[in-house]
Amino acid sequence: MPHDPYAWIEKSLTTIHRADWYRSVQTIDGRPGATVVLAGQEVINFASNDYLGLAGDERLIAAAIAAIEEFGTGSTGSRLLSGHRKLHRELEKAIASTKQTEDALVFSSGYLANLGAITALVGKRDLILSDQYNHSSLKNGAILCGAAVVEYPHCDVVALKTQLSQQRQNYRRCLILTDSVFSMDGDLCPMPALLDLADEFNCMLLVDEAHATGILGKTGAGCVEYFGCTGKPLIQIGTLSKALGSLGGYVAGSSVLIDFLRNRAPSWIYTTGLSPADTAAALAAIEIVQQEPQRRAQLWENVRYLKALLEHLPNLKLLPSESPILCFQLPNATDALKAGKYLRDAGIFAPAIRPPTVPTSRIRISVMATHQAAHIEKLVAVLKEMGSGEW
Ligand SMILES: *Cc1c(COP(=O)(O)O)cnc(C)c1O
Repeated sequence: MPHDPYAWIEKSLTTIHRADWYRSVQTIDGRPGATVVLAGQEVINFASNDYLGLAGDERLIAAAIAAIEEFGTGSTGSRLLSGHRKLHRELEKAIASTKQTEDALVFSSGYLANLGAITALVGKRDLILSDQYNHSSLKNGAILCGAAVVEYPHCDVVALKTQLSQQRQNYRRCLILTDSVFSMDGDLCPMPALLDLADEFNCMLLVDEAHATGILGKTGAGCVEYFGCTGKPLIQIGTLSKALGSLGGYVAGSSVLIDFLRNRAPSWIYTTGLSPADTAAALAAIEIVQQEPQRRAQLWENVRYLKALLEHLPNLKLLPSESPILCFQLPNATDALKAGKYLRDAGIFAPAIRPPTVPTSRIRISVMATHQAAHIEKLVAVLKEMGSGEW
């Protein structure tokens, strides 16, 4: 029989299809916003991470265009070689100022910021304790760095303490990893308790503020600010691609940490610097976040309104959430896909999230500051209708 070393790929795809785990892309036309045109149909957008509606904002667009005119399209090299521009440093200073940290370092994505920070900070002789529901970039960073990895049950500080008491002394350094807002659930990590444990067991604590930056805290600095943990010994990671409407990621922390990462984070050293357009757009977004707190206030008002209306739908199994991410659980992937399709046919874009991204299937709704009351009311009306009928 002739060998085909690639034959397994098609078989594997068939298995993915059979489990209803198959995924494919869907084309969105025009600018991002509270409503978008999805495969030719106008839908209300509850699928975006653009919480403040900045990705289509004229000021970000103008800043990106001006940066291209002045600096060109590409950064042309690694930051340490030919790719460093004054815009990068301005953005890093703006992030550090927002976070009230000594310094910050901008990466080409949030994913790369996590990979780079984790691999620089720990290795073979070290221990990582990681929340079971952490984002893929934290999980893969943990695998890549070669440290011993132990997952603790979601947000369970008692279990984490037990694991630390049993294992901490067998390792050189220890790093605790957690999302601050859990991206597929919407709940928050128990940050003050995690800081106490990190202190007690001499551990570093890395929090991923991807879904908190621009959203939580009095000034929008994130979950760290929300919990009153500003200035604590933390490594903060985040993205420029969600509430900030651009692309890229960052690490914020002490100047020693940032200086070390510039010398040791492979996903920063060996990749091209963030493009001038993305850098300038993120910088413009940070300014807007600082100067227009009313956007954040409107986002939270929309979250409150949606939650109040959802109370009238007791059959919906909402997961606990303290963020603009609201999920309701479905028994399996097939039902989640059906629900997603039902919503979409009714003009609501809210995706089904299925394994292996999450352990249990769900519909994920993300609220935007630019949603109007009518958008939210339509969502609830469609959910109500869906709950009463057969799919
Ligand atoms: C989206 C996300 C990332 C990745 O950020 P990108 O800039 O899109 O690469 C990392 N961590 C969490 C928790 C996220 O939700």
